[in-house]
Amino acid sequence: MPAPLERHAKGYRIPGTGIHLDPLEPVMHAVISHAHGDHAAPGHEHAYCSEGTAALIRKRFTYPARHLHAIPYGEVFELNGVPFSFHPAGHILGSSQIRWEHAGKIHVYTGDFKREADPTCEAFEPVRCDVLITETTFAARDKVHPDAAGIIASIPLPEKANLMIGAYSLGKAQRITRLLNDHIPGIRVMIHPNMHDYHKVYEQMGFQLGPWEPFRRELFRQERGIAYLVPPPTLLNYRKGTHFIRAFATGWDEKHELYDFALPVSDHADWPSLIRTILESGAREIYTIHGDGQELHDAEELSGLSFSFID
Ligand SMILES: [Zn+2]
Repeated sequence: MPAPLERHAKGYRIPGTGIHLDPLEPVMHAVISHAHGDHAAPGHEHAYCSEGTAALIRKRFTYPARHLHAIPYGEVFELNGVPFSFHPAGHILGSSQIRWEHAGKIHVYTGDFKREADPTCEAFEPVRCDVLITETTFAARDKVHPDAAGIIASIPLPEKANLMIGAYSLGKAQRITRLLNDHIPGIRVMIHPNMHDYHKVYEQMGFQLGPWEPFRRELFRQERGIAYLVPPPTLLNYRKGTHFIRAFATGWDEKHELYDFALPVSDHADWPSLIRTILESGAREIYTIHGDGQELHDAEELSGLSFSFID
């Protein structure tokens, strides 16, 4: 069977169509799953993405794609004779699975996705297909994400100190803002300037995050009960202070001398979610991408399906 995607100098390409998925260098036709920097890039002649992704891309890049086409979820659009549609992936605002029909088969590329409830983005929708291309960031049997609400609710919030939380500016910061507001009564959320625009796009697209305000140094010094969200490099550059403790929101549950504890909140599918998603798709041909999929290829739960890597 020919692979449904081929690696190309500019990213992945659907063979024989001239259409690229998530290319990082300018191309003629780019179909983009979501606005994270390892999937979205500026400068394409024609870029196609969901409405939420388009809103974020316009903030993210100083110049937009020359022709940025925002397509509502579920609406079919045709490129070089190939029908495409976007379906929610539950990863961040606007994140999409990409569905297309080619060579007599229905294909779905999951992009980054998660199945956990997250009120800050559109919920993942299972899509039936013949060929599924899935991300495998956490494709290990022992990788089962803990409940995010429980993690946030059990943060050891000291009376004499504030919290500084490292979180990626797009996606994670908005989800953590909402989780803090929902699960820590009375918390006051301050955010780094890099996050303002993204917070506002989320709210404009109808996803409420709860109260938040720009960072103010004097207040952070003088008052307590504040959680300050910063991008990871800012967290790692801050010297340990006596008036705050440092946490890092990461699905990897990493320990590090530069922060006091990890908040294992992930926006990628864990093992049970990967199994469930593959089974619900009805696909007989599975391709894995973005991560090490070997354990998934060998999974008993999925025996009888055909597995291959896209490298
Ligand atoms: Zn992503």
